[in-house]
Amino acid sequence: MPTIKIAYLYEDLMNTYGDAGDVKIICYFLKQRGFDSQVVNVSLEAEFNAFDYDFIFFGGGQDLEQTVVAQDVQRHRQTIADYIEANRPMLCICGGYQFLGSYYKTSGGQTIQCLDILPLHTIFNPQKRMIGDTHYTTQYGEVRAFENHSGQTFFDSAQLQPFGQMISGYGNNPHDGVEGLQYKQTIGSYSHGPLLKNVNVAQALVDQIINNFQTHRLAQK
Ligand code: GLN
Repeated sequence: MPTIKIAYLYEDLMNTYGDAGDVKIICYFLKQRGFDSQVVNVSLEAEFNAFDYDFIFFGGGQDLEQTVVAQDVQRHRQTIADYIEANRPMLCICGGYQFLGSYYKTSGGQTIQCLDILPLHTIFNPQKRMIGDTHYTTQYGEVRAFENHSGQTFFDSAQLQPFGQMISGYGNNPHDGVEGLQYKQTIGSYSHGPLLKNVNVAQALVDQIINNFQTHRLAQK
């Protein structure tokens, strides 16, 4: 069986509320489609070239873990930015999603420097921790999930598209009525649960991963 390579960024640090389940679900559906998968934990001090992989996953984390990751991840900014721009598939949840933007101001008053790849930023708001079930529509159909974050994410460009339109719950923040971000084949989302228990989204992502593998990696061989 051909092997799909998956990079799980900081798997040991960024994995709140079962986000690793997203990767397990991807591997399960890949197997059904006749593909093996190899998941590599790209953690502190590891070498990383995004283009060695067919899919990148970046899960959620507590503020403390995000502070640790922030000090390491800048080394990979360019390769991640190029990978995203090249229309390769990536899924970022909660803290991982926040990392795509310019910064995250935490409840501790600290500013975590993020990757500044996409025009968005995240700010803690003491009035509201956004916790509970979410329900929203996406281009792949409806999604039901769970959110738990203190950071409120705002887009800094009108061009940026959200991943979903809220039916209930908060999503990016209590004001905009939208959830996450979709840019090329990169999805950012506040949804834990994990998100990909919504098999409509999982199947769409697996299609993208297989197409990407066939176009880019098989062509190299
Ligand atoms: N620590 C971030 C926040 O509270 C992200 C939380 C998460 O990834 N679950 O907003």
